[in-house]
Amino acid sequence: MISVKKQIRMLAALSVAAVMAFGCRAPEGGLQNSQQASSLKKGMADAAKRSIVIYDMHVHPRNGLTPEMAIEREKSTGIKVAVIANHGRGWNIDNDEKLLAFLEKMKKPTVDGKHLLVGVQVNDRDWPSRISPKVLEKFDYVLADALIMKNDDGSFTKLWKVNNIENPQKWMEKFFAHNMKILDEPITIFSNPTYLPKCLANQYDELWTDERIEALVKKAVEKGIVLEIQAQCRFQANPRFMQIAKKHGAKFSFASNNKGTEEVCLDSWFEAIRLGDLNGADVWTPPPRN
Ligand SMILES: [Zn+2]
Repeated sequence: MISVKKQIRMLAALSVAAVMAFGCRAPEGGLQNSQQASSLKKGMADAAKRSIVIYDMHVHPRNGLTPEMAIEREKSTGIKVAVIANHGRGWNIDNDEKLLAFLEKMKKPTVDGKHLLVGVQVNDRDWPSRISPKVLEKFDYVLADALIMKNDDGSFTKLWKVNNIENPQKWMEKFFAHNMKILDEPITIFSNPTYLPKCLANQYDELWTDERIEALVKKAVEKGIVLEIQAQCRFQANPRFMQIAKKHGAKFSFASNNKGTEEVCLDSWFEAIRLGDLNGADVWTPPPRN
């Protein structure tokens, strides 16, 4: 039997760990921290009631975050973690050798005797010819987003760095086509669906029309590609997106997309779950750990 005192101590440690790992930024600490811990607890309880197992498929072990720390997060929050490597030109990992070295490091620690799931986030559109099939098959999943777009002159734009777009409607036509093209790639998860650069975020309804959302979702469903609900950008915590995606039978995954060891607010996951009225069957089941 665990004493009541010990139980209280364990609970306190658990809620602090939950905030440390996954709560919103809370510079004032104290009250705000406990509010965030309670919103995480509420969200997890709601997910459990809906038979949803929360698996964060987008944890980057970088800037101080180790796979061992990711496992600690899982133990303290109940949110299962899978770790992912950015791959592509200009990234730290840009060839097979480096991918294999990453994999070896990530597969070292174990959770209940099993290894973490490890994915590749592909950033080049010609990635299928840049990662050898033998290396790729060692990974558990492939994730891609639409945040790097090719320009007419062949150069690439990182959309999170864009501050001004002259003609949003015209740009959107190109961006939409770019999204649809990515869904032709052999990926497992489409990350951050219906993204927009910051400068256009307030035009979501005009740019991501029902028709565009529907076409994107239908193609993902047809190809068996999972749609990610991301904590950072909140584009999926949108009633139109969630309802259209649910209606067409989309499968969802969850993502914190951390920069390092910082706290990431996960409220938008739970908001998206409520908006789509999701249950366990709507959420993608990753392959088992081994
Ligand atoms: Zn990422």
